[in-house]
Parts: sequence; C-alpha cells; structure tokens
Amino acid sequence: MPDIQDLFAHNRAWAAEMERTRPGFFGSLVQQQKPKFMWIGCSDSRVPANQITGLEPGEVFVHRNVANLVVHSDLNALSTIQFAVDMLKVEHIMVVGHYGCGGVMAALNDTRVGLADNWIRHIQDVRDRHKPLLEQVPADKRGDLLVDLNVIEQVVNVCVSTVMTDAWAEGQRVTVHGWAFGVHDGLLQDLGMSVSSTESIDRLYRAALDKVVAARR
Ligand SMILES: [Zn+2]
Repeated sequence: MPDIQDLFAHNRAWAAEMERTRPGFFGSLVQQQKPKFMWIGCSDSRVPANQITGLEPGEVFVHRNVANLVVHSDLNALSTIQFAVDMLKVEHIMVVGHYGCGGVMAALNDTRVGLADNWIRHIQDVRDRHKPLLEQVPADKRGDLLVDLNVIEQVVNVCVSTVMTDAWAEGQRVTVHGWAFGVHDGLLQDLGMSVSSTESIDRLYRAALDKVVAARR
C-alpha cells in the first residue's frame, strides 16, 4: 500500500508517461469533454470505472455512491445524470453493482453501520419487494441475487427520472444498462436490462428479473 506522499510521485510519473507515449494527450483533453458513457457505480475502491473498462480520461462520466443507488429525490445523482444526458449527450448509462457489496450485504443481513443505515434502507426496500424471488434461491446465493435486483431497480429509477423521460420523448438516443462486476474474477456481467425507451421499461424489467433469478437457482 502506498503512503500519501507517494501519490504525487505516482501522479507525476503517470503524467510524464502519458505525455511520452501520447504527445498532446492533455492538450486535447483541455479542448473538450465528450464522453459517450456514463457510469453509475459503487464507491467501493475495488471497482474503478476507468480501469476495469479500459477507458481513458475523457471517455466516461462517473457518479459513485454507496451501493450504486439512484434515489428519486437525490439531487446529486439526478444532476449528474441530467448533465450527462442534456449537455454531454452520452449514448450509454451503465448502472454497475458488484458482488460482495458491503452496502448490499448490510441490507440483506440487517447489519447496523450507523448513519448509512438510512441510505441502505433503500436496498432493504428492494429486498422486501422481492422477498418471494430471494426465497427461490439457496441462502448462499441471496447476496449475489440482491446485488442483481438492486441494479435492476436502479436502472428503472434512472429510466423513470424526468431527465430520461424528457430525453426519450424528444427522440434522444441513449440507452440505460444494468451490469454487475465480479470482484473475485475482475469480470463485468451484463444483466440483460438495456432500456432505450419509456415504453420498453416494464417488459425489460420483468425479463431481467426472470433471468437473474433463473441464474441463481
Ligand atoms: Zn459496494
């Protein structure tokens, strides 16, 4: 583990290496930000958006919080989505959960962690809504299933926001995806919920629920 004073040394070495291998890289970044992708992920240090997707500075617009939630009244998340869709015109928004998520496991097991219990309550709402589905899979698979279910519910929350409703009504081409990352193998899974219109939310939601439950049975 590096010490804090190592971070500036790492930064200078990285900037020098980038400029050596890609002369003019930083100069072109100053000109504009035009990412095609927005990532809504967990704050967990093991799930860094750029590194696991091979994207460079300038290529992905990122919002992260505990357990990758998109709460209807969260102005932080909604403002970030609005900027990404209206100003940057991103083409893809990925909601990305990860297996072994501390927030999801705390929600599943009713573990008290402090103030964050109130945030995690949103995941417990997902757990309680899908209790019959969670009970269809073995107990040791319920954590992974709740990660998937939480992603699917947050995809819906993005899709029903005024930002997405208005963008799609105006014919803007932007797709919202649900993915999950395996900290144990470094691989991303597509949960099969990619939504490109308000009309298709309900059908894709039901299909995605069936798929993730079937995969855990
Ligand atoms: Zn997490």
